[in-house]
Amino acid sequence: MSNVDFCTCNETGCPNHPTNHDKGCTPCIEKNLREREIPACFFKKAGGVKPTEGWHFEDFAALMNANAAEIVPATENDKEEVMALYRAQLGREFCPWNEYYPSYETIDDDLSRDALFVMKENGRIIASISIDKDDAVEALECWSKELAPGGELSRLAVSPKMQNRGIARKMATHGMAVLKERGFKSIHFLVNRHNKKALQSYSHLGFNKVGECFMYNQEFLCYEKEL
Ligand code: SF4
Repeated sequence: MSNVDFCTCNETGCPNHPTNHDKGCTPCIEKNLREREIPACFFKKAGGVKPTEGWHFEDFAALMNANAAEIVPATENDKEEVMALYRAQLGREFCPWNEYYPSYETIDDDLSRDALFVMKENGRIIASISIDKDDAVEALECWSKELAPGGELSRLAVSPKMQNRGIARKMATHGMAVLKERGFKSIHFLVNRHNKKALQSYSHLGFNKVGECFMYNQEFLCYEKEL
């Protein structure tokens, strides 16, 4: 039991943790000042998913920036930036996209359905996600009949400079909220079965694996979640 009741840090193995001495916050603060770190309780208070591995000033700034970034519906004015974001994904591991897909027609179709959302930081687009309508995916047998209609999220892209900050998860969470608002009972997601990072991310969001398929030259695991 901590002798600092308000300490929310659960790293009780740390010798500076208040459960391991009777000096309150002093050893923790001393260590943080020495290492240029911010105490864990501040990260907890700032909420959200910790976007980096570290605990330094810069890591805290990254968390605050991620918190401040807004997710908004994309407009015609965002097309060029969204396309640049898509192009920045080409050649990345597990990215099945090429110079022809996603195209401007894809963006136009998303815009016409109010189905494209972007995250902006200081006015610049750093991530996007779409609500998809793919009949081939919908036709898969694995989706639960009780949870119909199910929606699909797709084309999740995060700027390469902004990776590993929990942004993909935030985009997916936002997409799910929009689907729920629009009357969908569940969400479907296909994830490349070898993409460990994405699989980990979606397991944190409470998705259930309900099947497997081979589409678009890739082996996918099919994930479903009730909204
Ligand atoms: S400063 Fe350190 S010991 Fe004090 S509440 Fe924050 S994390 Fe806990």
